[in-house]
Amino acid sequence: MSKISFRKRIQITKRGFAYLNRYCPGLPQGKALSALISSVQPLLSIWLSARIINELTGAKRPDALTFYVGLVLLVNVISSLLKSLIDKVTDQKEAQMWIFFEKVFSDKQMTMDYADLESAEIQHQHKKAYENLFMFGNGLAQLVWGTAGLVNASVSIIVSIAMTITLFTQKTDYKWMDSPLWIMGILLVIVGGGICNQKLTMVEQRIFRKWCEGTVWFNRSFMFFGRELYMNLDRAKDVRIYRQYDTADREHEKMRIHNKDDNGLILKMSLLPSVTGLAVGMGNVACYLYVVLKSFFGAFGVGNIVQYVGALSRLGEGIQELMFILGDNEVYCTHLQDLFNYLDIPNKKYEGTLPVEKRAFCVGGDNNYEIEFRNVSFCYPGAEKCALQNVSMKFKIGRKLAVVGMNGSGKTTFIKLLCRLYDPDEGEILLNGIDIKKYDYDEYMSIFSVVFQDYRLFAFSLAQNVAAGVDYHKEKVEHCLRQAGFGKKLSEMKDGIETALYKDFNRDGAPVSGGEAQKIALARALYKNAPMVVLDEPTAALDPVAEAEIYERFNEIIGDKTAIYISHRLSSCKFCDEIAVFHEGAIIQQGSHKELLAEESGKYAELWNAQAQYYA
Ligand code: ADP
Repeated sequence: MSKISFRKRIQITKRGFAYLNRYCPGLPQGKALSALISSVQPLLSIWLSARIINELTGAKRPDALTFYVGLVLLVNVISSLLKSLIDKVTDQKEAQMWIFFEKVFSDKQMTMDYADLESAEIQHQHKKAYENLFMFGNGLAQLVWGTAGLVNASVSIIVSIAMTITLFTQKTDYKWMDSPLWIMGILLVIVGGGICNQKLTMVEQRIFRKWCEGTVWFNRSFMFFGRELYMNLDRAKDVRIYRQYDTADREHEKMRIHNKDDNGLILKMSLLPSVTGLAVGMGNVACYLYVVLKSFFGAFGVGNIVQYVGALSRLGEGIQELMFILGDNEVYCTHLQDLFNYLDIPNKKYEGTLPVEKRAFCVGGDNNYEIEFRNVSFCYPGAEKCALQNVSMKFKIGRKLAVVGMNGSGKTTFIKLLCRLYDPDEGEILLNGIDIKKYDYDEYMSIFSVVFQDYRLFAFSLAQNVAAGVDYHKEKVEHCLRQAGFGKKLSEMKDGIETALYKDFNRDGAPVSGGEAQKIALARALYKNAPMVVLDEPTAALDPVAEAEIYERFNEIIGDKTAIYISHRLSSCKFCDEIAVFHEGAIIQQGSHKELLAEESGKYAELWNAQAQYYA
């Protein structure tokens, strides 16, 4: 564990509090207030009890006794009421803090570059920060708990010192008993106990962190092989058919071995608290002896014994707690640093600031968007071969472009780059002559409606799926669904567009077949009404009748929008104005269906002839 400087720790802690205030406002403040009451109240009670005992063993003045007893009752009632009120609110916030901590992660993931989601290194960083927080409360949760500890320790130290001063100023008849060396000795015992406690705690924390480091991969495979593999519906079919239980069992076996390695670390951690307890106990015994001796030699009455013993033991606890918090701060700062390293991963796609001209939406808009790929090359991280190599092409606006080619030829990658899911390694993509990286990302994305091959629908209502939002325009949703060929099915649905999809959150949720889902995804793209529509194998899951229907009405559906249409089924591209043929990451031919067929030795003619025999 690399050491973090004190200055850096203050910065990290401040940033941690800023996150707490943003995601769970009022929680640290509530904890601090509650701790303030908890630390002052017992010390005040001890002080008042000492006064009462002194009165009882001394002058026994009724008015003074009534005053002290009344004050004890008042202090206890008011502080208990106030504390339970604050705790009620704070406990609710604390119970919910885990949901807000989830949001810290989901906010980051929502804005994270898509390429980063695939990176193994970043996935590891995410797991490490996530697990430390949610499995052990490290980092932000420690900061919440630490706030209470810090207030408790500081107040206890200050108040108990104030309550102990007279222990050293009141004189006995014996000079040796009043020597200032006693003060030094007592302080040494108390502070020494605190330091010893803190050092041992640090050792324990270091062992714990070592243990945590080793568990990131372990937990990841545990989650996957123990839960995901069986619970995730997307995987459950294949797990059953290909009987993947054996693989999972073997992984479980590895986990048991991993656990054995960890047992040594856990044993070490469990031994340390008993050593700490012994050191603290010996310190307390020394303090008690001194107070009792001083009273025995006549420095003060019995009541003060209660006050000094109570205050000294709180002072000891306060110092231990403060030491622990300072040590703990070093530990949670390393966890917070891990979290902030993850949260600070730059979002390249959000670096652009230029607005996109709203050509399609303004009055008399000419929809004049021009996209150009200029010498674009791209390799997936870690891939040996580039998915796109030196691709150059221009889209003619308002026209229908088909992108064809064999599986793995780079068609989807081409679209992913266009939508800035990835940025090119070489070359540039231009929108109206300007590099797309320079545009504001959200504005840039507003000109695209995309249906990916592996699109996903969500367990919301049909309308919310189509509108991709909570609010929607009823007639527009129905119109888009009908345009996408979902009209007949919609008329059979009891709750119409309000019907929930899937059963995740609704017992009556409607299951949807692959073909129906594809139509809904198409309707979602139409609802967005963006000037450029990208369809990646949009009819792959449709039956031949539905497919033919979509093609027949393709021009009507797309209207005057620019359409990019990806398919490996060449017959479905005939109606496009222009066709680009991809092969091994490069565009090897471009032209109309007729022109490309005329190139008899070309790839397009080869693919066409190969597929034509099946249609024949
Ligand atoms: P197509 O859409 O033409 O079938 P893709 O663009 O999906 O082809 O893939 C082009 C190449 O890039 C293929 O060799 C594929 O294996 C590879 N590829 C696709 N996605 C990834 C990825 N996320 N990571 C690494 N390689 C990928």
